[in-house]
Amino acid sequence: MIILQGKGVSGGIARGCLLFCKKGSGTVLREDGEGSERENSRFASAQKLSIEQLEKLAEKCRREIGEDEAVLFETHAMLALDDDYVSCIYDTIEKDGCRAEYAVHLAGEKFSSLFSSMDDVYMRERAADIRDVTRRIIENLGAESDDEGTYRSRGDGQFIVAADDLAPSETVQLDKSKILGFVTKYGSSNSHTAILARTMGIPAVCAVGDKLGEIYDGQFAYIDGETGEIVIDPDEVTRRTLDEKYERIKETEEHFRSMIGKEDITLDGKRMMLYCNISSPDDIHAVLANDGQGIGLFRSEFLYLAADDYPTEEEQLEAYRSAASAMNGKRVIIRTLDIGADKQVDYFNLKKEENPAMGLRAVRICLNRPDVFRTQLRALYRASAYGKIAIMFPMITSVWEVKECRRACVSVMQELREEGIPFDSECEIGIMIETPASVLIAEELAEHVDFFSVGTNDLTQYTLACDRQTGDLGKFFDPYHPAVLRALKIAADAAHKKGIWIGICGELGSDLSLLPTFLAIGIDELSVPPSSILPLRAELRQTIAKTCELDLLET
Ligand code: PEP
Ligand code: MG
Repeated sequence: MIILQGKGVSGGIARGCLLFCKKGSGTVLREDGEGSERENSRFASAQKLSIEQLEKLAEKCRREIGEDEAVLFETHAMLALDDDYVSCIYDTIEKDGCRAEYAVHLAGEKFSSLFSSMDDVYMRERAADIRDVTRRIIENLGAESDDEGTYRSRGDGQFIVAADDLAPSETVQLDKSKILGFVTKYGSSNSHTAILARTMGIPAVCAVGDKLGEIYDGQFAYIDGETGEIVIDPDEVTRRTLDEKYERIKETEEHFRSMIGKEDITLDGKRMMLYCNISSPDDIHAVLANDGQGIGLFRSEFLYLAADDYPTEEEQLEAYRSAASAMNGKRVIIRTLDIGADKQVDYFNLKKEENPAMGLRAVRICLNRPDVFRTQLRALYRASAYGKIAIMFPMITSVWEVKECRRACVSVMQELREEGIPFDSECEIGIMIETPASVLIAEELAEHVDFFSVGTNDLTQYTLACDRQTGDLGKFFDPYHPAVLRALKIAADAAHKKGIWIGICGELGSDLSLLPTFLAIGIDELSVPPSSILPLRAELRQTIAKTCELDLLET
């Protein structure tokens, strides 16, 4: 029996034979080219073919896996067109007189090592993207390569895929029905393998290191996506222990699935609305599959982030309408544009700010740019004719902001009325509580809106003066801090005093350990990633609301 230790990045236990994804060295030897004109044109054709393939892969992903993975291939297509990357290739062909394959290989090495040396873990992971695009272009140049690129399937059984790390183009080509789990030598929780495993809901362990050798190919193993342990050829006692854990996890998953169709209610009859957070209409299938009872946060800015120019009224209408129709009368809360800070959109030409989290972001941009705001509000109101849409404004700090937002809504409704375009004039209006200022004046704010939704990600950042983007703040960034939880209580009391409901749409909402505290505070709604709905429902249905306490609010 061999036990290897890695990092668990997607929970659960997989048991089965290891199948290694074999790759060649990826080395391309220098050869003299046939003149720069010929090599440039060979590169241009291979680049074009690669982009076409990547676009097809993006479409396949969008249909079979999800939006995040599709965007990844679109990013690859952009990398293949990147000015610096492409100039580096043409320069090498020109100066060195080599074949295009070698020039592409050198550009890939240069840019992937540049990314690998970056401090930011996410950026480091992008080195794999550059290598992937580079490999594709070289393959399309018709170079001889011993690189098989993808795993070779053997027989009809299922297996645990083992690899150095899987490139996105490899993961999309895998036959998902045959994969029980993933284990990789390198990577982190941001790596593609980890992202794919979480999307597929199967276990994965990464960063096992070089000990994960091909000598284990074909051997029976267990991987534990929580502890990060890989047990190869286990002895009888270990096998029994892991089998028991495996069965327990399967039972829990089964139990969660049995929650589909059940009410979101505690043992003593207190109801809570369990809604989902989404970023695009493509996420609706996950909402429906997990029986989400509404959308509590549609982050509309992703429409703007994905575009090269301002999305038109018609484009936005299509996105909001399809979400409203798919939810079939259930509430769909769409948050107006929340860009700035960590979400920059080039075509807005926003000035560079020293301190963007405190700068011109979210509703501040909308109020400064009435043209942009009006287009979005028109699309939202037009979509309200197709379902139960609610509009929510982010980053509110003052009553005047809410009044101005409402004025903009009234003016848009007036326009639509005059144009004879149908809309829902009862469309609910809410605000996000994500600044300490909004907590302190919550009672006054509540007089102007139909609901509150607490953005605990930003509320934690602004309450504790801790940048949410800086991973290094460690224990100082503490969303369980009594100040954050008390802020929730102040806002909830204000909401209820004024007769409106309050929800949470930040990450904290899916934290099962806080559910009793949220019930004690009187939170009415939790909006969480779709995969958190059923575990939350299961927890809610075995909780007695009356016995929940506010002890976490004490210091
Ligand atoms: C939040 O701040 O908690 C929130 C839900 O908004 P975002 O994370 O999009 O800023
Ligand atoms: Mg926020």
